[in-house]
Amino acid sequence: MRYTDIPKEFLSYETGEAFQNCKICDRDLTQPETHYIIEKAIRKYTGYKAWDVVFEYAICINCAEGFRSELSKESVESIEKYFMTKVDVSKHTDRFRVTDEEPDLSNYTSQCLIKGLDRNEVEEYQIYGECKGNKFLYGNMPYMICGQAMDEIAQLLSDKTLDELDGFAGKYLGPSPELEGLFKGRKLVLI
Ligand SMILES: [Zn+2]
Repeated sequence: MRYTDIPKEFLSYETGEAFQNCKICDRDLTQPETHYIIEKAIRKYTGYKAWDVVFEYAICINCAEGFRSELSKESVESIEKYFMTKVDVSKHTDRFRVTDEEPDLSNYTSQCLIKGLDRNEVEEYQIYGECKGNKFLYGNMPYMICGQAMDEIAQLLSDKTLDELDGFAGKYLGPSPELEGLFKGRKLVLI
């Protein structure tokens, strides 16, 4: 698998450094073989040029799998089907190419995996990345999903799953009026 150092975009916005601990179990993520996922939600305020990180976190793969196993089977299958049918492989040639070249992050996160929209054309998006210790991996991740695709995915989820995602966000991402307004009912954490 190809990898690089952790790019700036996937460092913690809050600290400017790599994420140190799993948001759920507090495991040390800096150990060389510790496998973990990073997610960030970013929003552009209308009328402003600035981008704002709405939330960010890293969780170890064990916690991610544990959480996913608690979601309803129907929701997980719907999401998998959505990704299988909506991702246009021909638009993501770099992602699926076997090569020794150093991967270019912008090929992965500047356009929505589903809609192909450029991040500059959208109001909000989420980025996902995967690391092992201090290595940033190029496999199924990294990718970017725009707000429009997030809406579509949320519509596939059962009420029970949406409640569970809300519960996760409330517990681990903290109560934030901004989060409530922005992602209520369609949080894609851990998916
Ligand atoms: Zn964990």
